[in-house]
Amino acid sequence: MQQKMGAKQETIVCQVCDKVIETIDSCEGVKTLYGVCKDCSQ
Ligand SMILES: [Zn+2]
Repeated sequence: MQQKMGAKQETIVCQVCDKVIETIDSCEGVKTLYGVCKDCSQ
């Protein structure tokens, strides 16, 4: 598997506070996913 410079990343953003929860290397393209971070789920 080849890795190119500037690998595409999926970003998971908290839908409550807009904080980036996680970035995941992805070969499927750049996506923004929404979730809830630990602080906001309490
Ligand atoms: Zn949050």
